[in-house]
Amino acid sequence: MKTFFKRTVISSLMLSLTFAVAIAQDNPEIPDLKSPDGRLVVSFNLTGTENPTYSVKYDGKQMLEDSPIGIMLDMGSKPTLEGLPQGREAGNGDFTRNLKLAGVLTDQGKVDYTMDRIKTAHVSHEYTLGIFQLQNAANQNIEFEFRVSNNDIAIRYNIPKPRQRASTRVLFENTGFRFPDGTTTFLTPQSDAMIGWQRSKPSYEEGYSNDGDMNVRSQYGHGYTFPGLFHVGQNGWVLLSETGVSSSYCGSRLGDCQDNTYKIEFPMPDENNGIGTVCPAFRLPGSTPWRTITVGADLKPIVETTVMWDYVEPLYEAHHDFKYGRSTWSWIVWQDASCNWDDQVKFIDLASEMGWEYILIDAGWDENIGYERMEELIKYANSKNVDVFLWYSSSGYWNDIVQSPICKMDNSIIRKQEMAWLEKVGCKGIKVDFWGGDKQETIRLYEEVLSDANDHGIMCIFHGCTLPRGWERMYPNYVGSEAVLASENMYFGQGACDEEAFKATLHPFVRNTVGCMEFGGCFMNRILNKQNSGRGSQLKTTPIFQIATEVIFQNPIQNIAICPNNLEDAPKICMDWLRDAPTTWTETRFLDGYPGKYVILARKSTDGRWFVAGLNATKEPIKAKVDLSFLGDGEVQFYTDDKKTMEPALSTLKLKTKKPYQFEMQPSGATMIMK
Ligand code: CA
Repeated sequence: MKTFFKRTVISSLMLSLTFAVAIAQDNPEIPDLKSPDGRLVVSFNLTGTENPTYSVKYDGKQMLEDSPIGIMLDMGSKPTLEGLPQGREAGNGDFTRNLKLAGVLTDQGKVDYTMDRIKTAHVSHEYTLGIFQLQNAANQNIEFEFRVSNNDIAIRYNIPKPRQRASTRVLFENTGFRFPDGTTTFLTPQSDAMIGWQRSKPSYEEGYSNDGDMNVRSQYGHGYTFPGLFHVGQNGWVLLSETGVSSSYCGSRLGDCQDNTYKIEFPMPDENNGIGTVCPAFRLPGSTPWRTITVGADLKPIVETTVMWDYVEPLYEAHHDFKYGRSTWSWIVWQDASCNWDDQVKFIDLASEMGWEYILIDAGWDENIGYERMEELIKYANSKNVDVFLWYSSSGYWNDIVQSPICKMDNSIIRKQEMAWLEKVGCKGIKVDFWGGDKQETIRLYEEVLSDANDHGIMCIFHGCTLPRGWERMYPNYVGSEAVLASENMYFGQGACDEEAFKATLHPFVRNTVGCMEFGGCFMNRILNKQNSGRGSQLKTTPIFQIATEVIFQNPIQNIAICPNNLEDAPKICMDWLRDAPTTWTETRFLDGYPGKYVILARKSTDGRWFVAGLNATKEPIKAKVDLSFLGDGEVQFYTDDKKTMEPALSTLKLKTKKPYQFEMQPSGATMIMK
């Protein structure tokens, strides 16, 4: 939380701040905010008593039209969601209209930081700061803060401490995003609360629109969860999301579209079994999370954005070193029955044989193996150079989940004992599943679990959960979240296998570009059952496609869905590649693609190898011309599908990179270059 009107409002990396002269209210000279390269322009508009708005242009083209901006606070006048304060109280807490400009601050700032578990290792760029100091009809103050880098805009509200108050509640936000006519969407709906498996939704596990229309009702009528991707016709692309959500706020979402406009909405009352309020509250002075708008003429800025991490800070220090890597995971194909001693030994041996760092032991271990024998099993794993992640349900009162352990993470007294036990027996991480929504109450629990786990050197993976919102930087022991219709759905039904390639070519542009995505995939079985034959979901993508998703899907620990039989029956080319598969990256480049059709990315691994991976979700072969000059000339390993058999093919190529390279991918197939 930052203080109002003080220089400390800006990160310590800011250059010296210059104050603009206070502006006469009847003739507001509001400067446009231009990105350092001048191509992205934000205009803030405040005319008369109308509602304030902002608009966005890129290269002179309209990306967002006049969009609402503002916030309604509870400043003690008992306003309600239905009615605004009247009479003597008029304007109290209302920062949505009747605002006067009190001053403008503009400056250039710089972000410069390193990360070990996102798409890139070093982020360094400048941004333009614009703070509009405003006063409402009740003479209360607020700041609308914008940070504009070359392809990203971040917006938040800073609220000062008034004389007689030290806290506030946000009744609603008027923050919105109005798109030009003809904009199409790649959006995933918010589900009803308390539906689905043991009433565990919402859990960010829904489908996507595919170049969908704007002005249609969302599937459940509750709008959409972040992030949302918008194709603004010939003008370019916009990605909306939010970041910096800690225990001091709720997770927000986009409401249903009205008149080309999506507005910020708070969680639904029913989430978390109805416990916890919809409206967030925080101490004053204080700030809301950042809402982010990533803008590009093409998709490159969408895939390469780091705005989720640019303006957040670590909330605590890591007390231990955390190492990332690859993991086996029996549950995904062998399911609940495999969470027993004998089967887990098989998957420890498999991880050891592959040279991987981890095994994830899923639900039911406490009953089928038990706490005492788990200590022994971890010792066995360690003797084979394998470390252990254990599964927990987050559940207390917010769903009907009985998969155990339950009621270990929801209560601070028990949780702290559990974390101490985990450290004592040498467990390195936990996967906590089945959360209760986006209320501040729930976000606070995520933070408590992360903070307690950090005290004991435990990393955290979340499943059945919300989107991470800057958490890779805010919480040093945070590793990844599901928040996607992940690999389990391919086991559960053929439909998800049929749609695998479509979804896999969406994620780099939408879900995975704003945060680590724990997809838990890469199957080497062709039939998703223990026998790898007979009845079961059938993979429609090739084995090369499967391993290429390990490059395309970014998460610093990959729980890979191979089984012991794959040592014998899977293509040796793929298994050999998986033995040396990287999971952390120092650089990511978008080369070509279109959401839902195909994607070609280059990533450089922490150990210094380049991987150029392409997935094709269409029914035709794709030949894309891509610039691979950054690889330099020379020998590369070339993985692709044999055109006739669709079996994996590996060859060594002498690459000449002066001219664009013709990158060919077969239908439901993939190609990967490794150097
Ligand atoms: Ca799930």
